[in-house]
Amino acid sequence: MTAHPRYPLLFTPLDLGFTRLKNRVLMGSMHTGLEEAENGFERMAEYFAERARGGVGMIITGGIPPNREAGSGAKLSTPEEAQQHRLITEAVHAADPDVKICMQILHSGALARTPDCVAPSAIKSRIGGYKPRELDEAGIEKQIADFANCAALARQAGYDGVEIIGSAGYLISTFLVEKTNQRTDRWGGPFENRMRFPVEIIRRVREAVGPDFIVIFRIAAMDMLEGGMSWEEILLLAGAVQAAGVNIVSTHFCWHEAPVPTIATMVPRAAFTQVTGRLREALTVPLITSNRINMPEVAEAVLARGDADLISMARPMLADSQLVLKALQGREDEINTCIACNQACLDHTFGRKEVSCLVNPRACHETTLKYLPTPAAKRLAVVGAGPAGLAYATVAAERGHRVTLFDAATEIGGQFNLARRIPGKEEFNETLRYYRRMIEVHGIELRLGTRVDAKMLGALGFDEVVVATGIEPRRPELPGIDHPKVVGYIDAILGRKPIGSRVAIMGAGGIGFDVAELVSHAGPSGALDVEVFAREWGIDFKNHPRGGVTGVTPQVAAAERSIWLMQRKADALGRNLGRTTGWTHRMVLSRRGVNMVSGVEYLKIDDAGLHTLVNNEPRLFEVDTVIVCAGQLPLRGLYDELQAAGIRSSLVGGAFEASELDAKRAIDQASRLAAAV
Ligand code: FAD
Ligand code: NAP
Ligand code: SF4
Repeated sequence: MTAHPRYPLLFTPLDLGFTRLKNRVLMGSMHTGLEEAENGFERMAEYFAERARGGVGMIITGGIPPNREAGSGAKLSTPEEAQQHRLITEAVHAADPDVKICMQILHSGALARTPDCVAPSAIKSRIGGYKPRELDEAGIEKQIADFANCAALARQAGYDGVEIIGSAGYLISTFLVEKTNQRTDRWGGPFENRMRFPVEIIRRVREAVGPDFIVIFRIAAMDMLEGGMSWEEILLLAGAVQAAGVNIVSTHFCWHEAPVPTIATMVPRAAFTQVTGRLREALTVPLITSNRINMPEVAEAVLARGDADLISMARPMLADSQLVLKALQGREDEINTCIACNQACLDHTFGRKEVSCLVNPRACHETTLKYLPTPAAKRLAVVGAGPAGLAYATVAAERGHRVTLFDAATEIGGQFNLARRIPGKEEFNETLRYYRRMIEVHGIELRLGTRVDAKMLGALGFDEVVVATGIEPRRPELPGIDHPKVVGYIDAILGRKPIGSRVAIMGAGGIGFDVAELVSHAGPSGALDVEVFAREWGIDFKNHPRGGVTGVTPQVAAAERSIWLMQRKADALGRNLGRTTGWTHRMVLSRRGVNMVSGVEYLKIDDAGLHTLVNNEPRLFEVDTVIVCAGQLPLRGLYDELQAAGIRSSLVGGAFEASELDAKRAIDQASRLAAAV
């Protein structure tokens, strides 16, 4: 077999002895919420089958609890429950018999959303809902037996293997660290005792499934906990699970409760694979690495460095089910890249909502949201090439409509051209690259630098006009709002007006926080430089102290400006930021010394600064710049003109509704409308 010209390693099969993986890319495990949804198994079958058709070598399902106390989701502990899983395994193997599918067994331990949760010691996790019950000897034996039973049932259900998660703060990992395991019996104390539980699970699982079934163990190769696992302990554990019969070791980074971002967009691509590389030197079984590997060239480079044998991409498979196939066919510029925003995936999981993807609203909705060829092609005008207009135009054109896309600006992207300039949001460039390519692929006529009006559109005679003109920034009515020291967020981000050394940011929504990031930032973006990232978050990759972080102080340079980020609401700032990422933004800004002020009433702006009442007390902020980030209003003038002229038109994105608008909503709404036109 000749090697792939661009990805010789990625497309080399991996021989596991009794079976073979056709390439080195697997879809990592993600809980989607479909596990518990109505018709969830039918929906998961199509969701996974689409990814199997998309070229991935192996799929790991979302985590399935082996018993009731392991989690509130759809467990697998009986043959009847195994029967449902057949829908998934049969669909995947029918899509491509060479694709392997493994089921993840997830025992959430102290993080299980059930009052019946169990753990090695009765210690409540900072992020858990309940104090767990301490397992006694019989309880531990039951958990081990339930893992083995679950694995055997997975085999009966047609899976090619199981992945056992031993990281992230779930049951197995809580046996491994002293903080959560304070036992004094043979399951606690010295590390040899603490690792007995995972090793025994692997041994019993192997016994239950036989030799010709893939068993993967997911290990916390860097748990990011103060006092977490030492490198020597990780080596001991990895060696022991290998000896107990795993076929593959998968490296994981971070417990959910650890205050270090490991997958957010501010994390550099493939930042953690060096840790897998080091572990790989000590093992003979293949290793999987993961975290922020979102494009095939990144994956190939990781393999070329010798950091791993297999690459796990989880969220990138939500963003583009055909990622691997596109790489194989040399169409990587058509990949819809995961931008690591977490907005429609992890934020939904933690908010107990079904998962999808900001850049691909079809993710997890494969059976209901379909972009089918249209039986009656229309001539459509889409006005505005922001996320909403781009999504509408590309989906409609993919379906066969003839689309002309207008924008007054000289480049596509709308507000994404502002977002991509914020340090840490560089991935937004990928979405624009994707749309640029889709415009070519689907033959959309693109007319940039063209501000359209109803008269012009009327003269061009379209069947329908879609108005995606977005928003205009809200300008609060306030004495002094026209003072020269007042700068709008667009001018601030584009660098069109100077920003002084003492800055008030009026409004602390997503844009206020992004502007604060921009004006408090100096030097290279941590998202583009692993060393900067490691320094800022206090990670020692080289010496690997316990957890990778113990005793390492984050080194964040204080902002060169004095900055006050403010809002009128009395709550703490940043409440409405993403569930899984908001804390990172708050932490970065406070480490840089940005002042957060809530309960502000704005009175006036003059040469002296910004006059306010803070919690009803007069306060003057002596600033030389006031950046206004006070929300947005829909830009609907064109729509009103079209309506008045009797031209058939509809609204999408910010033009439809500016309140609580984000790109997730804009793309989702536009894609659904375009799927139906
Ligand atoms: P817009 O993006 O505003 O696009 C409207 C387009 O219409 C513009 O390109 C404009 O030039 C064009 N237009 C207007 N009138 C006319 C006309 N008459 N003729 C021709 N063209 C016209 N959202 C998230 O979900 N996650 C984030 O992390 C995020 N970060 C952000 C960071 C910043 C700094 C900013 C400013 C926004 C961010 N957003 C984020 C918000 C997100 O970008 C918007 O919700 C989204 O862009 C709205 O899409 P839209 O297509 O409706 O409007
Ligand atoms: P936003 O999140 O609605 O925040 C607007 C801010 O302005 C709030 O702090 C609000 O708080 C304040 N405000 C509202 N009316 C005001 C007035 N009349 N005078 C003074 N202050 C006023 O909107 P945004 O920051 O403009 O962001 C727009 C959209 O983009 C948001 O929906 C956001 O989700 C999205 N976005 C998302 C991200 C992300 O990382 N996910 C990043 C950027 C943007 P008070 O009323 O308390 O003052
Ligand atoms: Fe990636 Fe954002 Fe989509 Fe999640 S929602 S898969 S992070 S692009």
